Amino acid sequence: MSAVLNTQPGAQSAASHRDRVEDQLGAHNYHPLDVVIARGSGVWLYDVDGRQYLDCLSAYSAVNQGHCHPAILAAMVEQAQKLTLTSRAFRHDQMAPFYEDLARLTGAHKILPMNSGAEAVETAIKAVRKWGYEVRGVPEDQAEIIVCANNFHGRTLGIVGFSTDPDAYGHYGPFAPGFTIVPFGDYDAFDAAITPNTVAFLVEPIQGEAGVVLPPSGYFSRIRQRCTERGITLILDEIQTGLGRTGKLLAEEHEGIEADVTLIGKALSGGFYPVSAVLSNADVLGVFQPGQHGSTFGGNPLACAIARAALRVLTEEGMIDNAASMGAYFLDRLRALPGPVREVRGRGLMLAVELEPDAGGARLWCERLQARGMLVKDTHGHTLRLSPPLIVTREQVDWACDQLSAVLSAT
Ligand SMILES: *Cc1c(COP(=O)(O)O)cnc(C)c1O
Repeated sequence: MSAVLNTQPGAQSAASHRDRVEDQLGAHNYHPLDVVIARGSGVWLYDVDGRQYLDCLSAYSAVNQGHCHPAILAAMVEQAQKLTLTSRAFRHDQMAPFYEDLARLTGAHKILPMNSGAEAVETAIKAVRKWGYEVRGVPEDQAEIIVCANNFHGRTLGIVGFSTDPDAYGHYGPFAPGFTIVPFGDYDAFDAAITPNTVAFLVEPIQGEAGVVLPPSGYFSRIRQRCTERGITLILDEIQTGLGRTGKLLAEEHEGIEADVTLIGKALSGGFYPVSAVLSNADVLGVFQPGQHGSTFGGNPLACAIARAALRVLTEEGMIDNAASMGAYFLDRLRALPGPVREVRGRGLMLAVELEPDAGGARLWCERLQARGMLVKDTHGHTLRLSPPLIVTREQVDWACDQLSAVLSAT
């Protein structure tokens, strides 16, 4: 393969050269805001010209602990100098402490570490199907999993096959069968979709990518009860909602329930490295025998050391409580915003401002906020998602609201 770059270095600025290289060599599967970040610290990001921005995305909640948290960085450097990867063919000394910390924090009885969030979802799907056949006695290849419309569980083939977003699934088929899609938040639709072959319900506690959509109150407690009655494994995808984002360690705590299987990722490494995990009761992950599932990098020593530090700072530095109090304060202030705001919603620091459909589209507003030093991601056309690192202060929330107010009232 020979890459021919249609550029003449020197004949243009470094910036336009960089943009052209990205356009020509990079696949166009993202449409980033026109800002080039070179450095991050805490809630702040800095572009290549040294301009400072408040990060209101936190890498989709992977950087809950703030950028380049010094304690996580130190753990990473220390471990990287000793041992990074053994594969699971050998044991390593970082695994047991990682399991113990995670189990102590979450109450998990079994843990299976992977890398990306999508891999954790795929792992859970494999585990509950196997559990369905071996423990529940579902006829071979008949297992059904109920999922929700407007879900987001990742980008792998198995997962996009049960997405309802044409961008996510279009022209990627054929897909794996065995998934039934019901509306999110609709208990009766869930109940009606259950068959004797239903092995699991896979659901996000709050639908993040769908635009921060909360279920009606009482939904999850009824779901929990029904799953128990029918022997259905409740799988909560907490890859985005988990690890403090909503003001609790896990979003399930707001509902007063416990999932049978919980998926975490993103902030499990504080943004330093891809680390995800499937947490379960003893039954479901208990189905895997040696050789039946794996990952070369899953649960490697570097990942384990980073994850332990990421979990430690999250709890020891009060980030979860801060997410609860700053989130409530932020939500209150957002409710007072002027301009073309249709709805404000969220829980903890997982917040969204839905704009009127004729307000020009959320991306326009993201660009206006960028000009004022605030980086925000639009979702679903008209919604601004606001999810700063969990260390955000009251002054920073005030500042963010002032910027939002300024752009929204200038219409
Ligand atoms: C981000 C996300 C995933 C996928 O995680 P990746 O690390 O991008 O594969 C899955 N589920 C939810 C709810 C997410 O937000």
